[in-house]
Amino acid sequence: MELHITCIPGDGIGPEIVAEAKKVLDKIAEKYGHTMIYKDILMGGASIDVHGVPLTEEAIADAKAADAVLMGSIGGNTTTSPWYKLPPNRRPEAGLLAIRKALNLFANLRPAVLYDELAAACPLKEEISKAGFDIMIMRELTGGLYFGERKTIEENGVRKAIDTLTYDENEIRRIAIKGFDIARKRGKKVTSVDKANVLDSSRLWRAVVEEVAKDYPDVTLEHMLVDNCAMQLVKNPAQFDVILTENMFGDILSDEASMVTGSIGMLASASLNDTKFGLYEPSHGSAPDIAGQDIANPIATILSAAMMLRFSFDLDKEADAIEAAVKQVLKDGYRTIDIMSEGCTRVGCSEMGTLLAERI
Ligand code: NAD
Repeated sequence: MELHITCIPGDGIGPEIVAEAKKVLDKIAEKYGHTMIYKDILMGGASIDVHGVPLTEEAIADAKAADAVLMGSIGGNTTTSPWYKLPPNRRPEAGLLAIRKALNLFANLRPAVLYDELAAACPLKEEISKAGFDIMIMRELTGGLYFGERKTIEENGVRKAIDTLTYDENEIRRIAIKGFDIARKRGKKVTSVDKANVLDSSRLWRAVVEEVAKDYPDVTLEHMLVDNCAMQLVKNPAQFDVILTENMFGDILSDEASMVTGSIGMLASASLNDTKFGLYEPSHGSAPDIAGQDIANPIATILSAAMMLRFSFDLDKEADAIEAAVKQVLKDGYRTIDIMSEGCTRVGCSEMGTLLAERI
């Protein structure tokens, strides 16, 4: 199979971690008989330095022309970098918002996995963490409170701010379909999270999710109120498979789920549209404090590449091979600085990529 992948190395540690993801993808190509065709584009600070803007129209066209986009991370030190003296719409992050919009990426996926070997980094009590967990948080990304009408007014000398939370049934249906499709590739359970005891938007959410569920009799659906879900994530995370939720609830719950894994350098993510197209990137930022030192953990980016194989190319076997290599490398005791623990062997970014490629 020919895989056309647009890569955005970006800023900070971005180029280092994307290079390691390519190393692993090339090994997959060699072993499973695929051809990887990469095209690098500039975004964020790297694009500002060359073009004066964080994302050009040509770069957007290159992203659209590919089957998927693999990204490192963008942005610099927000207090010292000259990029942050520019107006907000010319700063690095504006490139990210622009590309998400241009590619119509409405579904955000963030896995939160606890690896046995990294269980010590999990802040939960051992009696809870020993059960392990493997959760996929699916967050609606382009609707809800963050995109509704908002204003601040003054009434009789009193300032008043208004934000509106709006969802129509089509926005809910398309993310629900994605959620059930993804559950089918995993543990076949969807927990739909809402606040249906209070909000109309949540009651519509629940009704539409139930309609969609009828087409997926093999997937178990349960509903959970968001406040309960926040508690259950720390009380019994092993109960979850796919958590399906709207934009703001997903924003908060995905950060909570990430934190209970305890290791930022391991967290992948994907943003999908209604075709097989997606943008895949680690959940962490560009870590300018450690850029250029060959010490960053490339695993989050490499696991994002595995998600790309699974969701954009339906190459489940190849994605499984990358995930198994990650487990094996941890089992063999290799660690980058962020996940280092006593008795393990510390390796750099490039060596970690090589060790993973060797285990494919
Ligand atoms: P960060 O995630 O870049 O770094 C937080 C801490 O985690 C730092 O100490 C860093 O060294 C460490 N860290 C992060 N990733 C690591 C890795 N792979 N291996 C080892 N250590 C790692 O967050 P920040 O410092 O708040 O942000 C830095 C820049 O990244 C900012 O410009 C921010 O806007 C940008 N950012 C970009 C994205 C994105 O591109 N999607 C996301 C978040 C932040």
